[in-house]
Amino acid sequence: NSDNTSKKSGNGNLRSPICCILGHVDTGKTKLLDCIRGTNVQEGEAGGITQQIGATYFPTDNIRERTKELKADAMLKVPGLLVIDTPGHEAFTNLRSRGSSLCDIAILVVDIMHGLEPQTIESLNLLKSRNAEFIVALNKVDRLYGWKKCLNAPIVKAMKLQSIDVQNEFKMRVTQIVTQFKEQGLNTELYYKNKNMGETSSIVPTSAMSGEGIPDLLLLLINWAQRTMEEKLTFMDDIQCTVLEVKVIEGLGTTIDVVLVNGVLHEGDQIVVCGMQGPIATTIRALLTPHPMKELRVKGAYLHHKELKAAQGIKITAQGLEHAVAGTALYLVTPNDDLDDVKDLAMQDMKNVMSRIDKSGEGVCVQASTIGSLEALLEFLKTPAVNIPVSGINIGPVHKKDVMKASVMLERKKEYATILAFDVKVTPEARDLAEDAGVKIFIADIIYHLFDQFKAYMESIKEEKKKETAEEAVFPCHLKIMPNCIFNKKDPIVLGVDVIEGIAKVGTPICIPSREFIDIGRITSIEINHKQVDTAKKGLKVAIKILGSNAEEQQKMFGRHFEMEDELYSHISRKSIDVLKANYRDELSTEEWQLVVRLKKLFSIL
Ligand code: GDP
Repeated sequence: NSDNTSKKSGNGNLRSPICCILGHVDTGKTKLLDCIRGTNVQEGEAGGITQQIGATYFPTDNIRERTKELKADAMLKVPGLLVIDTPGHEAFTNLRSRGSSLCDIAILVVDIMHGLEPQTIESLNLLKSRNAEFIVALNKVDRLYGWKKCLNAPIVKAMKLQSIDVQNEFKMRVTQIVTQFKEQGLNTELYYKNKNMGETSSIVPTSAMSGEGIPDLLLLLINWAQRTMEEKLTFMDDIQCTVLEVKVIEGLGTTIDVVLVNGVLHEGDQIVVCGMQGPIATTIRALLTPHPMKELRVKGAYLHHKELKAAQGIKITAQGLEHAVAGTALYLVTPNDDLDDVKDLAMQDMKNVMSRIDKSGEGVCVQASTIGSLEALLEFLKTPAVNIPVSGINIGPVHKKDVMKASVMLERKKEYATILAFDVKVTPEARDLAEDAGVKIFIADIIYHLFDQFKAYMESIKEEKKKETAEEAVFPCHLKIMPNCIFNKKDPIVLGVDVIEGIAKVGTPICIPSREFIDIGRITSIEINHKQVDTAKKGLKVAIKILGSNAEEQQKMFGRHFEMEDELYSHISRKSIDVLKANYRDELSTEEWQLVVRLKKLFSIL
């Protein structure tokens, strides 16, 4: 009977395009969403706009009404536009299936006063990698100095009302931003000047504050989607459906919020979704949508449906959804399907993620709110510039058991006893346990902030280790005593020396290989021209003080145990080399490492 429903739909049998909003923080994504939702919503029927689960639906009539000044209504063929409510990467990365986006079109928001920002570029790369169509909303035009408000007007009309100064500033900023996009390999142009929509992306100037450009944005979204995606938007019987969120609702148990991109779902349909512990095969108990706004006082928050047709945001109740994974595809089991095949299909997304875990078993734990964001994080951690190994993954809030899992690393590699939590909450119990156990939890909702935090932590651990091992680290040096520079013969020995090779460093134990490797003590101070320094590199002439660390060393005396021609070396050992390698590798030059290798031979260290 889904055939039936299809026929009823009319409109050339196209489904509504699905739209996502992306961009840098504070560019006005939320405000823009409110604005396209809010205009005309003040009174009565809210212009037919309906709040769905996780999305807002704009019927064509509403869009026609709002864009009538643009005189383009005849072209609307789709039933409406479905805009996903959560702005940002999150929803976009979730709305996908096998790597490509289920989102038909995206709005990339850029602040006209700021131009391209880090997350603009991140979003742009994401859109490119998913081959997604998008339109740039150049938001906050009302912030141009001297802007005259022109509520909800088409942008060209609003622009004509502005002073020459405003128009000039606008032109200058647009030119700058077009150049910035060009640097990212993207051709862009103001949409009303864009003659080559396929190759050049369109920019729509907007104000989410006073509504200028919003009609243009809506119309362009619909037109562009209709013109380029007729096939993709043609209604199909095959269902295409993604789990956006897994939520516990009082009285309903665990529910899943889905976006039905294509096809029809019925109450009683058998479905399979990906679960953290394996595939979940279950039966749809109820298909729910929110009550229209005017009926909010009606008992029970949701409307029940026998069937629902794409594109829609829907809440589904069913048994056994506790471990469902957000961001994965929902599959329908028809009488012709082999249940096991469908289960395999449903678990495919999870398998891809699991394959990114480090085989050595050494690495940090990562946790994200959905499989999409988890994948994005794993992808990022794998890039050569970052290169952080991962030993465990999970989806959803960080619980005690996650901390316990991460604590296993304490024994193996302390810095990996870490949870990188991307856009998820940490329960207070988990936080307490982490504190007690010494597991670090880093939380952020921007991927590279997590990286920055972790990097800083790695550095601090390194510093700590350096401090702990400072005594044991022996830098290589080769010193020659200078004539007439014997300032004190013993306890302490004070000599003028020439640093022939390596680095003389305070704390370095000194020995004399030509005299049966006698130890004469550690360097306790270094002076250059009467100034104290900690280190002296090859080529410098310095005065050093050497103090015996024990009674035997304290006996050692210039003129009795060693002479002018005896050369002094750092006393290295197997252990000191290991410490040097582990903590000071990048502080030594190649030449200095070569000296270490030679000393190793000199001291017969295997
Ligand atoms: P998001 O982080 O991208 O979702 O940004 P928001 O929608 O929260 O907006 C960030 C700030 O910019 C808020 O204070 C908004 O009121 C303001 N804002 C958003 N759009 C506009 C606009 O078009 N004009 C002006 N003047 N302010 C805006």
